[in-house]
Amino acid sequence: MIIFQLLLLASLSEQQKCGRSLNAFKDCIVRQGLPLDPIFLTKESNPTLYATVNHQWNLRLVQIDPLAYFLPTSTSVVQIGVKCAKDSNIRVVPKSGSHSFEGYSFGDSCKVVIDFRSMRRIEVNQREKSAIIEAGALSADIYKEIWEVGFLGIPLGGCPSVGIGGFTLGGGTGSFAAAYGLSIDNVVEMTMVAADGIAYQVNAEKNDDLFWALRGVGAGYIGIVTEFKFKLFDAANTKITWLVNSYDVKQSAQIWEAYQEWITWSNEDGNAPTTMSRINFGRKSQILIRLEFIKKGKNFPKN
Ligand SMILES: Cc1cc2nc3c(=O)[nH]c(=O)nc-3n(C[C@H](O)[C@H](O)[C@H](O)COP(=O)(O)OP(=O)(O)OC[C@H]3O[C@@H](n4cnc5c(N)ncnc54)[C@H](O)[C@@H]3O)c2cc1C
Repeated sequence: MIIFQLLLLASLSEQQKCGRSLNAFKDCIVRQGLPLDPIFLTKESNPTLYATVNHQWNLRLVQIDPLAYFLPTSTSVVQIGVKCAKDSNIRVVPKSGSHSFEGYSFGDSCKVVIDFRSMRRIEVNQREKSAIIEAGALSADIYKEIWEVGFLGIPLGGCPSVGIGGFTLGGGTGSFAAAYGLSIDNVVEMTMVAADGIAYQVNAEKNDDLFWALRGVGAGYIGIVTEFKFKLFDAANTKITWLVNSYDVKQSAQIWEAYQEWITWSNEDGNAPTTMSRINFGRKSQILIRLEFIKKGKNFPKN
């Protein structure tokens, strides 16, 4: 009982500390000349908008109400948010498309979530076959925008609402991966805000240590990426086929062997690069395998 009371007191004083830090964070934003509305959001300041922004799709997880949301509109605003948070002793968590299976982008009652929903710009350079994409852009919008500018493609996944931020920094795999590699393999430059609020442009020549670290370590560790530059590919006439088959689990060894042969054949020039994208163990000792392969289109470039 005494232990419980002590824990309760500790958590109350922690909450008060976070509340005081949040006031300092808010004052700092105002001092930097930013309007609080619509960049700074708490449950108290706008309960309806807070509920919308705080939507958590995974009902298996406990609902979290973060201390506040910070909704930047540009890299310089992210810099102010990070700097003010540091000066106010507040931890921040970036959120792009909110699809973290584990809820890593949801923050907690002492953290401010930097939510990229107001940063979804997609700028395609058709001549260069590249695109600059802000961290909050969602996969379906990116595919559409890029296709509409000259039938170009980008290797993303199959879920339309996954955000480019978490997806790409986590590697990012999908139907195009066998032909073009992971999503992160196709990133040629990023803009990253570090823990002290400084923004870095990173690529293979400039700040290359940060560039390679961001390409290997996973999302949410090195810094907050505000925009990505991707190389694109010609996607006209490209066809993706899914093949789903179920087998008796006793045939696993033969299936694996056949798959190895297929992979070797499929990656030969002119064939169809293939990924085994799903293996499920179903009922009645069945194994369900999904293969995805790409038939190269007319304008399909060589890797
Ligand atoms: C329905 C569904 C389908 C999926 N399909 C695929 C698939 O086909 N292929 C695949 O590879 N993955 C797939 N995933 C997994 C998905 O790629 C990861 O969950 C990814 O982290 C989601 O990115 P997000 O920006 O939407 O998520 P968020 O929840 O916003 O972020 C996820 C993580 O990245 C961090 N983060 C977010 N933005 C930034 C940023 N700008 N800078 C630094 N860190 C950041 C967050 O703090 C958090 O730790 C799928 C997930 C779901 C829920």
